[in-house]
Amino acid sequence: MHIKRLPRNDKTNGWNVILPYREPKAALEGDVRADWLVLGGGYAGLAAARRLAEHQPDASIALVDAGEMGESASARNSGFAIDIPHVTGSAQAQLDGAQRYLRMSRAALGHLEDLVQRHDIDCDWTKTGKYQTAVTARGKRVYLDPMAEMLATLNEPHEWKSADELAARLGTKHFHAGLYTPGCILLNPAALTRGLADSLPENVTLYENSPVIEFTRENGIKVRTAGGASLFAPKMILATNAFTEEFGFYRMRLIPFHAHASLTRPLSAAEHTALGSPEPWGITPANAFVSITMRYTSDRRILIRQDINYRPSLYVNPAEQQIVKQRHQKLFAERFPQLPDVTMEHTWTGFVCLSYNHAPGFGRVASNVWAAVCQNAIGVTQGTLSGLLAADMACEVENPLIADMESIGTPCLRPPRPFFDVGVAIRNAWHNWREGDEA
Ligand SMILES: Cc1cc2nc3c(=O)[nH]c(=O)nc-3n(C[C@H](O)[C@H](O)[C@H](O)COP(=O)(O)OP(=O)(O)OC[C@H]3O[C@@H](n4cnc5c(N)ncnc54)[C@H](O)[C@@H]3O)c2cc1C
Repeated sequence: MHIKRLPRNDKTNGWNVILPYREPKAALEGDVRADWLVLGGGYAGLAAARRLAEHQPDASIALVDAGEMGESASARNSGFAIDIPHVTGSAQAQLDGAQRYLRMSRAALGHLEDLVQRHDIDCDWTKTGKYQTAVTARGKRVYLDPMAEMLATLNEPHEWKSADELAARLGTKHFHAGLYTPGCILLNPAALTRGLADSLPENVTLYENSPVIEFTRENGIKVRTAGGASLFAPKMILATNAFTEEFGFYRMRLIPFHAHASLTRPLSAAEHTALGSPEPWGITPANAFVSITMRYTSDRRILIRQDINYRPSLYVNPAEQQIVKQRHQKLFAERFPQLPDVTMEHTWTGFVCLSYNHAPGFGRVASNVWAAVCQNAIGVTQGTLSGLLAADMACEVENPLIADMESIGTPCLRPPRPFFDVGVAIRNAWHNWREGDEA
């Protein structure tokens, strides 16, 4: 099978660019054999490779990635390790789902926190919690009120914040109301993925800059890279996010969206004072599709993540990034008029893999292949946990969380293209028109 769509490492990821240089591990060379192949070095692949190595300390595990650590979607995200569910509802099934979600996300957070501490991973791991904010009274009513109701039923701590309280804490008067929850961790995602990669057990060999362009599955797994190297392994865990359909799995079931983010230069001491000298904060929007995720980081930068678009080509257009940068600058000016000279220093794009029914691509997909893909935009926790559980399943190690993950279901079929593309375009246009006030 020839792999046509490949990830491109355009080296624009601001989280990575602001870190010190890291020497990537060597690319795959020659003909290599391993006991396990883990393909894809995002949160899912990193967790899967580590867990396989722990279960089978005598086995050799090859972790192969097209790019460098610090360049994947896992490293490009907004850096919210979120503990509470996005989806709300008070029906028993929804509450049960929320309980399962909490169990899974907290297991992932516990796993990551342990590694950050044990390996001294310098990724600005900060337990600040987060604010979910609404711009309008309608946004509060439609999105935040049901969330508060669900959190109350689940006995999860949360606090309402008024417009004035938010303005004092965040330094912007843009929001009508907010819901604070304390369990979210904020972090530099490039630093975390690098740190996870550089602390893998000894029986994991990481090959970076090794895009797989050919994949065969006869009497084991064989892959060939663009550099002409090959690797054979009897078994594989696939952790290739939105690129997974290329390998023949979940065809017509995955929906790739691209998302853009920008990071300002660090604020000066005077600008920090003008903002109200806040501690780091993070906000997620009432409506993640039309409105904006923002952060104030420990090094006094402001992150803006806005705009999620369906992008089946999995291609990032550099010209489009310039337009996005200008848009982010405008959004910044609207929110922080007291900071007229602060500019966007970095703008980048990454891929989010969604499914129509919000289900993950998780579990055994062939006799010798397990998948941990399609994290539905909550990759820090969901990606980590799906990688861990895929390895548990592949090694036949019991874990009650496997049943939790499986209960979410598997990605359902989406309509064929181009009908689907037209449907998404119409739905997005309608959604943006209807929810535009929340931007
Ligand atoms: C701008 C943005 C903001 C986001 N914000 C958040 C957030 O705040 N919190 C959150 O939880 N989630 C967020 N997400 C989503 C999250 O980043 C993803 O869900 C998560 O990173 C997916 O992890 P993964 O391991 O499944 O995939 P990835 O991180 O995409 O890893 C897949 C890997 O597979 C490799 N690969 C693919 N094809 C091949 C091939 N042919 N050969 C070799 N290697 C290959 C890629 O190079 C890549 O490194 C955001 C995403 C974006 C883009």
